[in-house]
Amino acid sequence: MKTLDLTPSKIVAVASNYRCHAAEMGRPIPSAPKLFFKPPSALCGPEDAIVLPGGVGRVDHEAELAVVIGQPAKHVRVADAMDFVGGYTCLNDVTARVLQKEDGLFARAKGFDTFCPVGPVVVRDLDPTKLGVRCRVNGKTRQDGNTSDLIFSIPILISFISGIMRLEPGDLIATGTPLGVGPLAANDVVEVEIEGIGVLKNQVVSGAPAWTP
Ligand code: MG
Repeated sequence: MKTLDLTPSKIVAVASNYRCHAAEMGRPIPSAPKLFFKPPSALCGPEDAIVLPGGVGRVDHEAELAVVIGQPAKHVRVADAMDFVGGYTCLNDVTARVLQKEDGLFARAKGFDTFCPVGPVVVRDLDPTKLGVRCRVNGKTRQDGNTSDLIFSIPILISFISGIMRLEPGDLIATGTPLGVGPLAANDVVEVEIEGIGVLKNQVVSGAPAWTP
């Protein structure tokens, strides 16, 4: 990565964590956080290219606020959870939508190399409860949400996840995406902007076929 050096042991992502996006995807409001992993190998930085693998169909942007864990966290109580935040950054949870539906599992759809751009900086002193989360493609607004619409708050997510797995410093939690996910095409420029953090900007390019048997 060019300007951001994050080496998380894991990237824990939350599905359907905005009411408006759950409705958009035709999913019910979850009663507990729905978690999945993105592999650290999917990470790329600001200004790096997002590579669309050949033959996988539609690939979408998902603008998300990411929490960077600051210290080891295990069985953290909700009331103490914010003490474990090391900072915040922008994340694009790039998703091969057709594969996600086809598999019913997310490892392939969300696991391609370059499918997890993060950056441009990690901001430490930020109130994450009311931040605009936006996505633009070629300058046109696609997503315009706010973290005040999160179903599960950041303290709840840290507490919930740390009850399952130990969170390590540098680990990322992708907190979910608001309404307006949409397809990316080669030569697009996609920007994720979060109030108080900045703009994560990536060019989209086409790549080799995902798999040649
Ligand atoms: Mg997502």
